[in-house]
Amino acid sequence: MGKIYIYDTLSGKKEMLAKPKGGPLRFFVCGPTVYDLSHIGHARTYLIFDAWVRFLRSQGINLTYLQNITDIDDKIIERAKVERKNPLKLATLMYKEYLKDMKSLGVESVDNYALASKYIKEIQGEISRLISKSFAYITKRGVYFEVSKFSDYGKLSKQNLNELRPGYRIEPDPDKKDPMDFAVWKFPKGELKNQVSGSGPILIEGEPVWAAPFGAGRPGWHIEDTAISEKNFGLTYELHGGGMDLKFPHHEAEIAQARALSGKKSFVKTWMHTGFLLVENTKMSKSLGNFIMIREFLKRYAPEVLRLLVLTQHYRSPLNYTDKLSWETKRSWESINEFLGRVELVKKKGGKSGKHLKAKVINLEKRFFDALADDFNTPKAIASIFLLIKEVQPKLWSLPRKEAEEIGKALKSVLGVLGFSLKLPVISAKATKFALDREKLRVNQQFIQADSLRKKINSLGFHLEDTPLGPFIWPKT
Ligand SMILES: [Zn+2]
Repeated sequence: MGKIYIYDTLSGKKEMLAKPKGGPLRFFVCGPTVYDLSHIGHARTYLIFDAWVRFLRSQGINLTYLQNITDIDDKIIERAKVERKNPLKLATLMYKEYLKDMKSLGVESVDNYALASKYIKEIQGEISRLISKSFAYITKRGVYFEVSKFSDYGKLSKQNLNELRPGYRIEPDPDKKDPMDFAVWKFPKGELKNQVSGSGPILIEGEPVWAAPFGAGRPGWHIEDTAISEKNFGLTYELHGGGMDLKFPHHEAEIAQARALSGKKSFVKTWMHTGFLLVENTKMSKSLGNFIMIREFLKRYAPEVLRLLVLTQHYRSPLNYTDKLSWETKRSWESINEFLGRVELVKKKGGKSGKHLKAKVINLEKRFFDALADDFNTPKAIASIFLLIKEVQPKLWSLPRKEAEEIGKALKSVLGVLGFSLKLPVISAKATKFALDREKLRVNQQFIQADSLRKKINSLGFHLEDTPLGPFIWPKT
């Protein structure tokens, strides 16, 4: 395989992807906070990383893909209070729903989903080390990471902390040394925390609480991910991904924690961030009620339509989702499938003479893989597929079988690299029979009878086209 370049948020440049000597390339992606069903914004991020991992693996890269699941968080606790549920049970339920959505979308590349609640021991271990190294301190409300002790805080998101500070006016803990300091552990309200023992958790006023050497409580969001990645990957690894909105403070905090623990100059080699998803030019928000849940989308369109919609936009650019765009993408996806259906007919019936198209297939593969190796340019890679279709289409019926086979194989293979699954539609036996009967009538110039059979085929949900290789039947859309 050739060299693969990817944009690193920290350096602000395209960098050659670091491949470790021996052992797999370690890839961590921030998973969802499971308090509700996932929407198409989540789908965008996880489809991009799924396609990215599939691409790397297609290039022979041995890779371990780890995704955390935030199942302990303020948002979950708040939602559970409203719904009068146990927050851990709500999170477990929503985690299962998330997995169902990912399965429907064909996201299959994740090796390990790690739930924060299963890493309490590791989280506490990191916090104890941070306290003993004087990177963290204890107040009445919790344990905080002291941001001023870490001089590189803000470098990933290119922020000046002195400019950020005034934004932190609402101060939940007056004992914090600096408003920017973030919680790694949160104590429950009241004095009940002193009574917690055992491995827990117990619920105190709707909050899950675990016993801990520095006081019973629950973890902050940022430390959950650092503990999960340290346990699975160690304190330095190759690749970290997440949505653009996680750069600050979440990923700054991850860097600060991991480097404070390791004492090293670097945490991960490459940071990948995916762009926002807008709906009709507006940010999805609760108050606007414009969330489109994944399963809602899938009621109207095939999962491949969302995958194509996401991948026809560069992963770092914002994506403006509109009804029109999903409709157009549906048509594009159908056109690829229909083309492959036609290729199948040529594979069976074969054209008489043929131009050698081998060069076009080689061109497709070169354009496709070069685009992906250059900062995962999926729009360009997908354009190479449509270009091939456009070039081959006019000569399709005259292709010899062997060439049709090669073209079909090449297209399926590149589409498979990005995670598209292709299934030829089932043409009913009845429609096929009508088409054969109609062909005989047509040859005998019995056009009225032939036309009535065409109408019958239409009424079965198919359209019929007379091609130089005989009738081509395809589902009506
Ligand atoms: Zn994270």
